[in-house]
Amino acid sequence: MGKVYLIGAGPGDPDLLTVKAARLLQRATIVLHDSLVSREVLQLIPREAEIIDVGKRAGQKLLTQDEINQLLISYANQCSGRSLDRPAAGSSDPSTTHTEVIRLKGGDPTVFGRAGEEIEALRRANIPFEIVPGITAALGAAAAAGISLTDRRAASQIVITTYSRGSDPATADPFAVTPNVDWAAISNSTTLVLYMPGADYAEVSRRLIEAGQPEDLPCVIVSNATSPHQKIRWTTVSALASEAKLPAPALLIVGRVATHEIQEITATHWAANRKEPQVKPATIS
Ligand code: SAH
Repeated sequence: MGKVYLIGAGPGDPDLLTVKAARLLQRATIVLHDSLVSREVLQLIPREAEIIDVGKRAGQKLLTQDEINQLLISYANQCSGRSLDRPAAGSSDPSTTHTEVIRLKGGDPTVFGRAGEEIEALRRANIPFEIVPGITAALGAAAAAGISLTDRRAASQIVITTYSRGSDPATADPFAVTPNVDWAAISNSTTLVLYMPGADYAEVSRRLIEAGQPEDLPCVIVSNATSPHQKIRWTTVSALASEAKLPAPALLIVGRVATHEIQEITATHWAANRKEPQVKPATIS
């Protein structure tokens, strides 16, 4: 039985892979990857390797999560158990030499990456696995925009959430159901990172305003962060409504850190717009 590596491919730029991820990819013989993984990262995989795109796009799933779990388990069961560092001498057929299974996911596998289901399936099947973290899109996007998500002048917490409900397999349209953002956790010192913001920025804008976010709160849309197609749009919560949609994958960073003018913004009317957190901090005894 072989080991399954759940590897984070990072946000796009292959230079942002961990050394471990790059090493494993360069020796891979079987890789199951999502559609989010960049072409440049896939190019690191040897040509002889078996590469399976199990990518799931909104509305047209190529494989169900259960099918992916089953694939991982059956490939792991087919593995001979030899280490990738010691390939079978003289062996030429990749299907007989692969010893470990690579499950490659965009960003970090555990952040909106459905790693949970796969880990559970592997555990139940008694298949050894290892998670190799990757740079999640929020961090790639912040780096691309040249901002600090926890700039101490403006933010003390990051809330990473998604606008996609992403849990009801019965609905083809992932944006059809009201998203479950925990608005109570958002204060004026929160940086909100919204993965999968969808196509309807006007709706996102409306929901942010309904949830008490100031209309002039800075907001930045980052599309294809760290890739050659990267696009960055600086806007505000209310102006977001009329922004043209940027190509997927894109995310939204909302908060006072989402600007290059933090000092000015913090110094002006922010005291008046202050919104206290609605959650009570836990008492430490
Ligand atoms: N596991 C991934 C997230 C998968 S969910 C991670 O850790 O990054 C897919 C969403 O991630 C996309 O809809 C988008 O919101 C975001 N995303 C992924 N890659 C991105 C990129 N290069 N630039 C901007 N957003 C990205």
